[in-house]
Amino acid sequence: MMEKRILIIGSGLGGLLSGFLLSKEGFKVTILEKHRKFGGCLQTFNRDRYTFDTGIHYIGSMAPGQTIHNYWKYFGLSDRLDLVKMDENGFDRISYFGTEYPLAQGFDNFKERLLAYFPDEASALNSYTQNLHEIVNSHPLYNLELPAGSYSDHYKSILAGSFLSDLSSGIRHSASGIRLSDILAGNNFLYAGNPATTSIAELSLINHSFISSAWRLAGGSQHIVDILVDGITRNGGRVLARKKVVGIHKKGESFHVSTKDGDLFEADQIVSDIHPVSTLELLDGIPVQKAYNNRIRSLPNSISVFTVYLGLKPESFPFLNYNLYKYKTDYIWSALPSRGDKWPNSFLFMTPPEKEQGAFANTAVAMATMNFEEVREWEKSESGTREKSYFVFKAKKAKLLLDAVYEQFPDLKEAIVTIEISTPLTWRDYTGTVNGSMYGIVKDAANPQKSTILPKTKISGLYFTGQSINLHGALGVTIGAVMTCGEILGLANVINSIKRTL
Ligand SMILES: Cc1cc2nc3c(=O)[nH]c(=O)nc-3n(C[C@H](O)[C@H](O)[C@H](O)COP(=O)(O)OP(=O)(O)OC[C@H]3O[C@@H](n4cnc5c(N)ncnc54)[C@H](O)[C@@H]3O)c2cc1C
Repeated sequence: MMEKRILIIGSGLGGLLSGFLLSKEGFKVTILEKHRKFGGCLQTFNRDRYTFDTGIHYIGSMAPGQTIHNYWKYFGLSDRLDLVKMDENGFDRISYFGTEYPLAQGFDNFKERLLAYFPDEASALNSYTQNLHEIVNSHPLYNLELPAGSYSDHYKSILAGSFLSDLSSGIRHSASGIRLSDILAGNNFLYAGNPATTSIAELSLINHSFISSAWRLAGGSQHIVDILVDGITRNGGRVLARKKVVGIHKKGESFHVSTKDGDLFEADQIVSDIHPVSTLELLDGIPVQKAYNNRIRSLPNSISVFTVYLGLKPESFPFLNYNLYKYKTDYIWSALPSRGDKWPNSFLFMTPPEKEQGAFANTAVAMATMNFEEVREWEKSESGTREKSYFVFKAKKAKLLLDAVYEQFPDLKEAIVTIEISTPLTWRDYTGTVNGSMYGIVKDAANPQKSTILPKTKISGLYFTGQSINLHGALGVTIGAVMTCGEILGLANVINSIKRTL
């Protein structure tokens, strides 16, 4: 029998994991990537002597036996990545009005550390961690188990914001006046939290994974890309750069995919790792049900982000083995725009580790969520040809963000040698997500059915993968890739293949 040909559009984490899995299970895989570099959000870039990660700064559950470790073993990643365990007693620190509240690793440790600040909230903390366990246990794929029958996740329709406020008594910490519920939502940048849409399922899967254990990748997330591309090539697949897909056509039973440079690729099936709306836009002469098309196009996307990447003088700024989420007000949800002209309402600051990490940091990164509207006036411009006003905007926003960071770390200013900036336009151009959205289509707890994108599309032979299906991030995209490949190979077969590597 002839090998089935699968073409994958986009080499983000979802495309690479799907490509690895399908090529390992006997398909003839070709991945087409529009950039010269593979990886999408996993890409790193270099400025002067510095290397920066762009979209994977830390990952959870990478201790042996934990969720991502179990999955990534199959992909040859778990034992080969250079991982640095983050501070056990506070991998994330939530800073409000001068007090830093630790989110610790290990569930008992997590409760104990917060109890020191909220001594009357023992029952709320117990209930929180119990709920996290219960919710992930009701999500079979989190535990590498097969969903039974027509599985539906009712936690997707419960709002995280209401859950958190119902949980705690509302007692405020005397030093900062902040409530436990605000601290538990303090790293909501991780899921672009929105009180009107974020579900308890999203909050729980992500937080359970990080509280289980939290890690950084020494030397950058590019290593994940290199291992996966090498694996796909060894399995007989191809990963091709500078191949921007511009059209998907059908000829008989086969797909014909055209690229900007004039190439044509033939395939039996297609997996698209790019945004679902961008995928629909590529269809040329292939009929799509109107209701399906309209539904997907109508779904809102998560907010975008503004980042400054800092190269530092040697031995001038300490290495921090944690992330700092700092709030200037008690307005905690990162998907909502900052009030008035107060941007940034909050920011995330970190110092990524080097391969041989000592006491001092080599680089630092600060980020704040940003609405695409801020850069709308330059949306038609392309990287390399943008107007001067755009650079003025970038510099102004970078100053605002850095001034906020300097309030926390006054010594940082003198330590900086290089500054690089990315805006929502950068994200749009680098990953192809609509409006530079960080995490793709919003999974809406108020409307879970409408906002759920299934891997199997209404076009026979075309599948979605990546962060807009299932969940974003290393955890969500990994499970999403397994779901997508499960549609092609049978989910039980995929789960069994992965389990055999444990
Ligand atoms: C600022 C930021 C920080 C983050 N931090 C973390 C973190 O610390 N931990 C974590 O777990 N997750 C994090 N995430 C989320 C995580 O990075 C993403 O959810 C995940 O990497 C997305 O993978 P993906 O496969 O969906 O696609 P993407 O990474 O979006 O890749 C899509 C690929 O498709 C390519 N492409 C687009 N259009 C075309 C076309 N027409 N033809 C060919 N190729 C095309 C793009 O160039 C890109 O390479 C972060 C995200 C952001 C934005």
